Amino acid sequence: MLATALSTESAQLTPWQACQRYIEEKVPPSTFETWFRVTELVIRDDGCACIQVPNKFAADIIEANFHDLIKEALAACGVSFSALAFERAVGSERALVEQLAEQAAETQSRQVPQIVSESTGRFNSDYTFDTFVEGDSNAMALTAARSVAEKPGNNKFNPLIIYGGTGLGKTHLLQAIGHYAQAECTVGHVVYITSEEFLNEYKQFLRDKKSSFSFYKKFMDTDLLLIDDIQFFSGKQETQEQFYLIFNKLLQENKQIVLSSDCLPENIPDLEARIIKRFQGGLNIDVMPPNLETRMAILRKKAESGGHTLPDEVVQYIAEHTKSSNVRVLLGILIKYICSTTFHDTGFTLDIAKELCGGAITGKEERLSMKRIMETVANAYGIGVNQLSAHTRKKEAVLPRFVAMYLCRKWTQQTNLTIGLEFGNRTHATVMSAVKKIEANLTNEGQAELRAKISEIEGRLKELS
Ligand code: ADP
Ligand code: MG
Repeated sequence: MLATALSTESAQLTPWQACQRYIEEKVPPSTFETWFRVTELVIRDDGCACIQVPNKFAADIIEANFHDLIKEALAACGVSFSALAFERAVGSERALVEQLAEQAAETQSRQVPQIVSESTGRFNSDYTFDTFVEGDSNAMALTAARSVAEKPGNNKFNPLIIYGGTGLGKTHLLQAIGHYAQAECTVGHVVYITSEEFLNEYKQFLRDKKSSFSFYKKFMDTDLLLIDDIQFFSGKQETQEQFYLIFNKLLQENKQIVLSSDCLPENIPDLEARIIKRFQGGLNIDVMPPNLETRMAILRKKAESGGHTLPDEVVQYIAEHTKSSNVRVLLGILIKYICSTTFHDTGFTLDIAKELCGGAITGKEERLSMKRIMETVANAYGIGVNQLSAHTRKKEAVLPRFVAMYLCRKWTQQTNLTIGLEFGNRTHATVMSAVKKIEANLTNEGQAELRAKISEIEGRLKELS
């Protein structure tokens, strides 16, 4: 094959430089930098216009997406050609640099484990299918994740998109897929990357004006691509474009793609319509907040993985009283609980769980009733319960009444109004002022005795609840 370099006299540009200018006007600058900067044109003897690109990956992407645009550019720049072809460059200096980089990466990738990504070191061995607790809230997502891991690419779940709130197990599932596919060798090359890493690496390539190969090389031989938290692509047009090109290429070749998002992709603001359309061609499946039973199972499993068996009442208490639906928060409390019981050498007592769950003695079921509080206070002060609600200003009854009102306010969900009614039809203002007085006294240096009394009562209440 005889290659003929062309030149135009008019603008001292080669025909391909003229074409590149044309193309540059029609595509986003970042796309031009990534896919067209390092290209050449060679017209073969048979009249075929041969676009030379650094590697097959780039050739495929350019051909699939910009075939018509290149033809248009050639025609506009007066280059006559019989056909259009793409091939790996052999001659140009920049192409050579790209090729060397590619060869170096290939050699390197043969030496490293199969999961190749910048994030390899961050792969968390806790995140496997075995450690994932199935519940109504995540059963569908788990089934889809398993079948994708078992048969990547060849299934109707491509792309698989797992979406849902924070801390509901999306990253766990993505990593479990990667682990499984790698361990069971269901697939060759696995890449896990967060959308933020994707964004940053792309920005860095544009900033450093490095070879674009440095950016897309990790996707070249990918058989299973896992991208976490794609909501961060929101509003990042240039990155979205590159993502779309790579994503499409892999999908066309039946490579498996799994993505996670904190909401349904069509609700991600400023995400290109064509990307959303492609997502809709796959399976979008949500993970929901786990119910009580699943939360308890998660706590048990996590505790057991650390060699601890917790009493049921503790597991249930933590599962019931952690307000957030985020499993990470739930597990955070469990870890604190285990540390704290170990540190104080108390054994797995319920008290410590209560303290950690916001010190709330009360639960949803309002286990501690006002009646119980009134009895305990009266008892502690050695007076009758009826004296708390009696309309007497006797000194020995006033302080206990105030303390009882304060504790009802603190440990029940009752309003001042209801509390007032319970204490002999007193007004809500009376309750409010009683509570304020006690609170003020509790912070008063001279009131150590009151503080001790109240904490003694609270101790008794905890035992009772
Ligand atoms: P997301 O990516 O949805 O924000 P993660 O996957 O990071 O949430 O989950 C947060 C934490 O909760 C992780 O430690 C994860 O292992 C744990 N987790 C969430 N759901 C489950 C589950 N069903 N079984 C076991 N652990 C879970
Ligand atoms: Mg996550």
